[in-house]
Amino acid sequence: MINKYSRFDLPGQAENLFLTGARVIDPRQGIDQTLNLHIQNGNLNVGVDNVPEGADIIDLKGHWITPGWFDLHVHFREPGKEVAETIASGCQAAMNGGFTGVACMPNTNPPLDDAASVKWVLSQGKKFPVEINVIAAATKGRKGQELVEMSEIVEAGVRAFSDDGSPIHNSAVLRHSMEYANMLGARIFEHAEDPDLAADGSMNEGEWSTRLGVAGIPSIAESIDVIRCIEIAEFTGAAVHICHVSTRESVEWIRWAKQRKLRVTAEVCPHHLLLTEEACKDFDTNFKMNPPLRMEEDRKACWDAFLDGTLDVYCTDHAPHSWEDKTQEFDVAPFGVVGLETALGLAFTHFLSQGMSLEKLLDRVVYAPREILSLPAPEITTGSLANLTIIEPEARYKVNPDEFRSYSRNTPFKNWELQGRAKGVINRGFALIKGN
Ligand SMILES: [Zn+2]
Repeated sequence: MINKYSRFDLPGQAENLFLTGARVIDPRQGIDQTLNLHIQNGNLNVGVDNVPEGADIIDLKGHWITPGWFDLHVHFREPGKEVAETIASGCQAAMNGGFTGVACMPNTNPPLDDAASVKWVLSQGKKFPVEINVIAAATKGRKGQELVEMSEIVEAGVRAFSDDGSPIHNSAVLRHSMEYANMLGARIFEHAEDPDLAADGSMNEGEWSTRLGVAGIPSIAESIDVIRCIEIAEFTGAAVHICHVSTRESVEWIRWAKQRKLRVTAEVCPHHLLLTEEACKDFDTNFKMNPPLRMEEDRKACWDAFLDGTLDVYCTDHAPHSWEDKTQEFDVAPFGVVGLETALGLAFTHFLSQGMSLEKLLDRVVYAPREILSLPAPEITTGSLANLTIIEPEARYKVNPDEFRSYSRNTPFKNWELQGRAKGVINRGFALIKGN
């Protein structure tokens, strides 16, 4: 199937599009059946029997359609490091991976720490079926000292603040940022890390760091900050979101906080669910990220917490780095891996086969992330805006980074055999439906 919607640089307009033969799944509407969808000027008409006049017919037999997927944690490198990723290339990676929405972290250069820079990023990507959201810096220059002008930034459409890449190390600043964000209906996303404990570590502190002679980051460097966030959330009544959880101890504290009905949410990334520290044994920097790959007991704890909802969100921490940067020595190379173009295939191959229902997966990647940012959830109902992810569940392939739309190739999942991939996305009146 070659079609006029398969362009990445300028996706087709969903003016009059008839999608036929797909299994349509919208858990919140109680829909799970083969249905035809007609999309006119971006809006949905569900369950149409006859092909509307002049419509472009897309035969999607054997495909699934779900509400559009959302990645709550991505790093697009614009401004500052456009060789690794731009907002446009990041959107292309998102489309290729089946995501219709992303939340961009503010650790660009300069950082997104005022309303003007946030508005500029929000205004990019308008020609793509990917909504760009921004998580603005919590402190000026991400220096951890002085709060940004939160109310102006919230007015620009932001619902979350973070110094991601770094924690907010000063507890008084963290407290005030949480209180102030809370007053404005926003929340802090904490990159949970004690920088003194993490020091100059490059991987998890454990058996493998000792064997390899690489400086380690102990698991408590993360969990101590998780406890600090939970304590401040309880003390202030404010909400807090814990980024990229990687340790058993963090999971246990978050579970405890949720039992106490504190306003704590958390996210987990595919690499922490599928890999352990042993992967670093050949000093391949595509396994170097922060927080680092941990031990099997941590991986297992994260998986159990992801299944039971203690970890609310599945996100990628998509962190593109150029080949030049990533081919430096292990202890010098920057932290981070790309994720947008493998997350869906990994979920279909490894999560659905290990006891996670599709409904739960959609909760973690469609609904929970949007709820945390107070965004409306997409609905597959007549009259609503079409915001859809189209999936080819039977597609079998080997991950080939050279096929990525991201400018960067730093994936830890190269050559993994996956089943299930994104066929396309439709959102904001645009459609990208890949040809065969
Ligand atoms: Zn982070």
